[in-house]
Amino acid sequence: MGVERIPRLDSFRAELGVWSRSAYCPNCSLPSSFTRSKGLAVWPEWRDELHMNWAAEGVILEVWECLFCHETVSVLHRSEHGFEQETFTAIVWPPQPVDELPPEAPTVTRSLFAEASGCEHQGYRRGAAALLRACVESILDDRDVSEGNLKVRIDALKDGDVDPDLVKDLHEARIMGNWSLHDALEFGADEVADVAALIEDAVQVLYVQPAQRERMRSSRANRRQEHKRGPAS
Ligand SMILES: [Zn+2]
Repeated sequence: MGVERIPRLDSFRAELGVWSRSAYCPNCSLPSSFTRSKGLAVWPEWRDELHMNWAAEGVILEVWECLFCHETVSVLHRSEHGFEQETFTAIVWPPQPVDELPPEAPTVTRSLFAEASGCEHQGYRRGAAALLRACVESILDDRDVSEGNLKVRIDALKDGDVDPDLVKDLHEARIMGNWSLHDALEFGADEVADVAALIEDAVQVLYVQPAQRERMRSSRANRRQEHKRGPAS
Protein backbone atom coordinates (compact mmCIF):
# COMPACT_ATOMS: atom_id res chain seq x y z
CA MET A 1 0.00 0.00 0.00
CA GLY A 2 2.74 2.48 0.98
CA VAL A 3 4.74 4.57 -1.43
CA GLU A 4 8.41 3.58 -1.54
CA ARG A 5 10.44 6.49 -0.31
CA ILE A 6 14.13 6.65 -1.11
CA PRO A 7 16.05 9.09 1.10
CA ARG A 8 17.41 11.61 -1.38
CA LEU A 9 20.09 13.03 0.83
CA ASP A 10 21.84 10.16 2.55
CA SER A 11 23.10 8.76 -0.76
CA PHE A 12 25.08 11.97 -1.28
CA ARG A 13 26.76 12.13 2.16
CA ALA A 14 30.35 13.38 1.99
CA GLU A 15 32.79 10.49 1.64
CA LEU A 16 36.46 11.15 1.14
CA GLY A 17 37.99 9.68 -1.99
CA VAL A 18 34.71 8.33 -3.39
CA TRP A 19 34.40 8.91 -7.14
CA SER A 20 31.39 6.75 -7.93
CA ARG A 21 28.28 5.89 -5.97
CA SER A 22 24.72 4.64 -6.21
CA ALA A 23 22.02 7.14 -5.37
CA TYR A 24 18.50 8.21 -6.11
CA CYS A 25 18.69 10.67 -9.02
CA PRO A 26 16.68 13.85 -8.41
CA ASN A 27 16.67 14.50 -12.19
CA CYS A 28 15.39 11.23 -13.65
CA SER A 29 13.79 10.01 -10.36
CA LEU A 30 15.47 6.61 -10.60
CA PRO A 31 17.96 4.72 -8.46
CA SER A 32 21.11 5.25 -10.52
CA SER A 33 24.90 5.25 -10.53
CA PHE A 34 26.87 8.47 -10.40
CA THR A 35 30.41 9.61 -11.12
CA ARG A 36 31.93 12.61 -9.42
CA SER A 37 32.57 15.30 -12.04
CA LYS A 38 34.06 17.96 -9.78
CA GLY A 39 34.79 18.94 -6.19
CA LEU A 40 35.72 22.45 -5.06
CA ALA A 41 36.44 24.03 -1.70
CA VAL A 42 34.16 27.09 -1.51
CA TRP A 43 34.76 28.26 2.09
CA PRO A 44 36.75 29.58 3.95
CA GLU A 45 38.68 29.90 0.68
CA TRP A 46 37.74 29.17 -2.90
CA ARG A 47 40.26 26.64 -4.15
CA ASP A 48 40.68 23.29 -5.74
CA GLU A 49 39.82 20.65 -3.16
CA LEU A 50 43.23 19.03 -3.68
CA HIS A 51 44.71 21.91 -1.70
CA MET A 52 42.21 22.13 1.12
CA ASN A 53 42.61 20.99 4.72
CA TRP A 54 40.20 18.07 5.08
CA ALA A 55 40.63 17.98 8.84
CA ALA A 56 39.39 21.56 9.40
CA GLU A 57 36.07 23.39 9.23
CA GLY A 58 35.01 24.10 5.67
CA VAL A 59 32.48 23.88 2.87
CA ILE A 60 32.91 21.89 -0.34
CA LEU A 61 30.77 21.72 -3.44
CA GLU A 62 30.55 18.45 -5.35
CA VAL A 63 29.05 17.88 -8.78
CA TRP A 64 27.89 14.34 -9.58
CA GLU A 65 26.77 13.07 -12.99
CA CYS A 66 23.97 10.50 -13.30
CA LEU A 67 25.09 7.72 -15.65
CA PHE A 68 21.49 7.14 -16.72
CA CYS A 69 20.22 10.63 -17.62
CA HIS A 70 23.67 12.37 -17.70
CA GLU A 71 22.32 15.35 -15.82
CA THR A 72 24.20 16.70 -12.81
CA VAL A 73 23.48 17.01 -9.11
CA SER A 74 25.28 19.67 -7.04
CA VAL A 75 25.78 18.91 -3.38
CA LEU A 76 27.10 21.21 -0.68
CA HIS A 77 28.83 19.69 2.35
CA ARG A 78 29.66 21.69 5.43
CA SER A 79 31.89 20.33 8.14
CA GLU A 80 32.64 21.92 11.48
CA HIS A 81 35.36 19.51 12.56
CA GLY A 82 36.78 18.02 9.37
CA PHE A 83 35.26 15.85 6.67
CA GLU A 84 35.83 12.56 8.41
CA GLN A 85 33.19 13.65 10.92
CA GLU A 86 29.52 13.94 10.05
CA THR A 87 28.78 16.81 7.70
CA PHE A 88 25.71 18.89 6.97
CA THR A 89 24.71 18.02 3.40
CA ALA A 90 22.27 19.79 1.11
CA ILE A 91 21.41 19.16 -2.54
CA VAL A 92 21.55 22.64 -4.06
CA TRP A 93 20.73 21.61 -7.64
CA PRO A 94 18.28 20.54 -8.97
CA PRO A 95 15.70 22.14 -6.64
CA GLN A 96 14.23 19.50 -4.37
CA PRO A 97 10.51 18.87 -4.90
CA VAL A 98 8.36 18.25 -1.84
CA ASP A 99 6.24 15.14 -1.34
CA GLU A 100 2.55 15.90 -1.17
CA LEU A 101 -0.42 14.16 0.34
CA PRO A 102 -3.40 13.44 -1.92
CA PRO A 103 -6.15 16.09 -2.18
CA GLU A 104 -8.52 13.98 -0.03
CA ALA A 105 -6.37 14.74 3.06
CA PRO A 106 -7.33 17.74 5.24
CA THR A 107 -5.82 21.00 3.94
CA VAL A 108 -3.87 21.68 7.13
CA THR A 109 -2.40 18.16 7.12
CA ARG A 110 -1.33 18.56 3.50
CA SER A 111 0.34 21.87 4.22
CA LEU A 112 2.20 20.52 7.29
CA PHE A 113 3.26 17.40 5.39
CA ALA A 114 4.64 19.38 2.44
CA GLU A 115 6.70 21.49 4.83
CA ALA A 116 7.89 18.37 6.68
CA SER A 117 8.99 16.94 3.34
CA GLY A 118 10.91 20.14 2.50
CA CYS A 119 12.74 19.85 5.84
CA GLU A 120 13.35 16.13 5.36
CA HIS A 121 14.95 16.56 1.95
CA GLN A 122 17.17 19.42 3.12
CA GLY A 123 18.43 17.37 6.07
CA TYR A 124 16.47 19.26 8.79
CA ARG A 125 15.25 16.05 10.40
CA ARG A 126 14.16 17.36 13.79
CA GLY A 127 12.06 19.98 12.01
CA ALA A 128 10.63 17.25 9.76
CA ALA A 129 9.87 15.03 12.79
CA ALA A 130 8.11 17.89 14.62
CA LEU A 131 6.00 18.67 11.56
CA LEU A 132 5.08 15.02 11.01
CA ARG A 133 3.89 14.89 14.62
CA ALA A 134 1.83 18.03 13.86
CA CYS A 135 0.33 16.14 10.88
CA VAL A 136 -1.01 13.52 13.31
CA GLU A 137 -2.50 16.27 15.51
CA SER A 138 -4.18 17.87 12.50
CA ILE A 139 -5.72 14.52 11.49
CA LEU A 140 -7.14 14.16 15.02
CA ASP A 141 -8.45 17.76 14.91
CA ASP A 142 -10.13 16.97 11.60
CA ARG A 143 -11.80 13.93 13.15
CA ASP A 144 -12.85 15.91 16.24
CA VAL A 145 -10.78 13.79 18.62
CA SER A 146 -9.85 16.48 21.11
CA GLU A 147 -9.93 15.06 24.65
CA GLY A 148 -6.62 14.58 26.46
CA ASN A 149 -2.98 14.66 25.35
CA LEU A 150 -1.82 13.40 21.98
CA LYS A 151 -1.23 9.84 23.25
CA VAL A 152 -4.79 9.60 24.57
CA ARG A 153 -6.22 11.19 21.43
CA ILE A 154 -4.45 8.67 19.15
CA ASP A 155 -5.67 5.77 21.32
CA ALA A 156 -9.21 7.12 21.09
CA LEU A 157 -9.17 6.34 17.35
CA LYS A 158 -9.40 2.64 18.24
CA ASP A 159 -12.94 3.29 19.53
CA GLY A 160 -13.85 4.61 16.08
CA ASP A 161 -12.98 1.31 14.34
CA VAL A 162 -9.55 2.44 13.19
CA ASP A 163 -7.20 -0.51 12.67
CA PRO A 164 -4.89 -1.05 15.72
CA ASP A 165 -1.82 -1.22 13.41
CA LEU A 166 -2.64 2.21 12.06
CA VAL A 167 -2.99 3.53 15.62
CA LYS A 168 0.45 2.06 16.36
CA ASP A 169 1.89 3.86 13.31
CA LEU A 170 0.51 7.19 14.46
CA HIS A 171 2.15 6.63 17.85
CA GLU A 172 5.47 6.17 16.00
CA ALA A 173 5.10 9.65 14.52
CA ARG A 174 4.16 11.06 17.94
CA ILE A 175 7.18 9.50 19.67
CA MET A 176 9.66 10.57 17.01
CA GLY A 177 8.27 14.12 17.21
CA ASN A 178 8.45 14.14 21.01
CA TRP A 179 12.03 12.95 21.14
CA SER A 180 13.07 15.41 18.44
CA LEU A 181 11.38 18.32 20.18
CA HIS A 182 12.05 17.57 23.84
CA ASP A 183 15.33 15.66 23.77
CA ALA A 184 16.81 17.25 20.62
CA LEU A 185 17.40 13.72 19.33
CA GLU A 186 18.20 13.56 15.62
CA PHE A 187 16.82 10.56 13.77
CA GLY A 188 18.35 9.05 10.64
CA ALA A 189 17.07 9.94 7.17
CA ASP A 190 15.59 6.44 6.82
CA GLU A 191 13.68 6.75 10.09
CA VAL A 192 12.19 10.13 9.14
CA ALA A 193 11.30 8.76 5.67
CA ASP A 194 9.65 5.76 7.34
CA VAL A 195 7.45 7.91 9.54
CA ALA A 196 6.52 10.12 6.58
CA ALA A 197 5.47 6.93 4.75
CA LEU A 198 3.35 5.91 7.77
CA ILE A 199 1.50 9.23 7.55
CA GLU A 200 0.96 8.67 3.81
CA ASP A 201 -0.46 5.21 4.57
CA ALA A 202 -2.71 6.58 7.32
CA VAL A 203 -4.09 9.20 4.92
CA GLN A 204 -4.79 6.46 2.37
CA VAL A 205 -6.81 4.47 4.91
CA LEU A 206 -8.56 7.36 6.65
CA TYR A 207 -9.32 9.61 3.67
CA VAL A 208 -8.50 8.26 0.22
CA GLN A 209 -10.10 4.80 0.46
CA PRO A 210 -13.36 6.07 2.08
CA ALA A 211 -13.59 8.76 -0.66
CA GLN A 212 -13.09 6.09 -3.34
CA ARG A 213 -15.79 3.89 -1.77
CA GLU A 214 -18.11 6.88 -1.65
CA ARG A 215 -17.48 7.68 -5.34
CA MET A 216 -18.19 4.06 -6.31
CA ARG A 217 -21.33 3.99 -4.15
CA SER A 218 -22.73 7.12 -5.78
CA SER A 219 -21.89 5.93 -9.30
CA ARG A 220 -23.75 2.65 -8.56
CA ALA A 221 -26.71 4.68 -7.26
CA ASN A 222 -26.67 6.80 -10.43
CA ARG A 223 -26.63 3.71 -12.61
CA ARG A 224 -29.63 2.31 -10.71
CA GLN A 225 -31.50 5.60 -11.14
CA GLU A 226 -30.80 5.61 -14.89
CA HIS A 227 -31.89 1.98 -15.14
CA LYS A 228 -35.20 2.79 -13.40
CA ARG A 229 -35.84 5.68 -15.80
CA GLY A 230 -35.37 3.24 -18.71
CA PRO A 231 -33.60 3.84 -22.01
CA ALA A 232 -33.82 7.35 -23.40
CA SER A 233 -36.34 7.68 -26.21
ZN1 LIG B 1 19.40 10.65 -13.58
